[in-house]
Amino acid sequence: MTNPRIAMFPGSFDPPTMGHINIIRRSLKLYDRLHVVVADNINKKCLFSAQERVAVLKDIFSSSSNIEVVSYDGLMVNYARENNIGVMIRGVRAEGDFGYEFELAMTNMQMMKELEVLFMPTDPSYFMLRSSQIKEMAAFGADVSALVPAQVVELLKKKVIPR
Ligand code: ADP
Repeated sequence: MTNPRIAMFPGSFDPPTMGHINIIRRSLKLYDRLHVVVADNINKKCLFSAQERVAVLKDIFSSSSNIEVVSYDGLMVNYARENNIGVMIRGVRAEGDFGYEFELAMTNMQMMKELEVLFMPTDPSYFMLRSSQIKEMAAFGADVSALVPAQVVELLKKKVIPR
């Protein structure tokens, strides 16, 4: 039996941005418990290891007791089943996101009939924000402090040497 009061927010979070943080904060207001699930996918090349991404998210949300941050290397519907999760949240920015997210939702709902998928529109302030853009900006030494939490700024400083 899935629990409709427990939600998950899966993603790469490479690295987490204010866009992700905004979706997480709003989801925490809607559900009793939120699992932020960092995809540990060997086929997707990430700048940060799954451990680094989990650690930084845990640090950012250290004062929230109703959040769980984990990494997972399987199908997200399997994680949902294993943890009795009833809702999967995905953030959507623009129309481009919607097509991809809709197809993904169809696949996930086909694999797990009892799962609800919820699309949460981005906050207009973060409409253009994506992790790849942050990595690109950091590589050129641009200031990203308004776009990612302070903990991510520190992580980028350690990992990215500007050109
Ligand atoms: P994935 O590789 O699964 O797309 P991402 O880390 O890129 O992982 O994104 C995870 C989720 O966060 C996705 O649902 C994505 O649409 C959403 N997201 C990413 N950036 C933003 C943003 N700026 N505003 C709202 N949602 C966002």
